[in-house]
Amino acid sequence: MYCPFCNAHETKVVDSRLVAEGQQIRRRRECITCHERFTTYEAAELLMPRMIKADGTRQPFDEDKLRAGIQRAVEKRPVSVEDIEACISRIKQHLRATGERELPSRTVGEEVMSELRKLDQVAYVRFASVYRSFQDINEFKEEIDRLSEQKEDAVKAE
Ligand SMILES: [Zn+2]
Repeated sequence: MYCPFCNAHETKVVDSRLVAEGQQIRRRRECITCHERFTTYEAAELLMPRMIKADGTRQPFDEDKLRAGIQRAVEKRPVSVEDIEACISRIKQHLRATGERELPSRTVGEEVMSELRKLDQVAYVRFASVYRSFQDINEFKEEIDRLSEQKEDAVKAE
């Protein structure tokens, strides 16, 4: 690819490594002309199932929207960009592994919740409270109680 700084056609790869649990390759490049460095990420583009919305309309799977939703949930939490990208890779793998060409869009929400539950419980509760239309405050409280029980169990196990 051309240098994004000076548009020179020749750049060289100075470092490359696997990221997102091997689902992406990160390359550090240097422009031969202006010597600026920049990073590229390469990932296989595999066909994702289309999303069926609650009203029955179909739309393409939107990775940016998924990322934005997770980022909102983990805001100011000790979660790295690498963790988020690994989550997104796993979610996409799970969706593809269904072998379906179309999936209800709530499937994605359920996947995000199961990932966040493992990653960061505050982020999980934030996401769940926005995503799920909790029937009433009791249902939400049950979820919180369940989480704090899990926490207590984890403390006991230590
Ligand atoms: Zn350049």
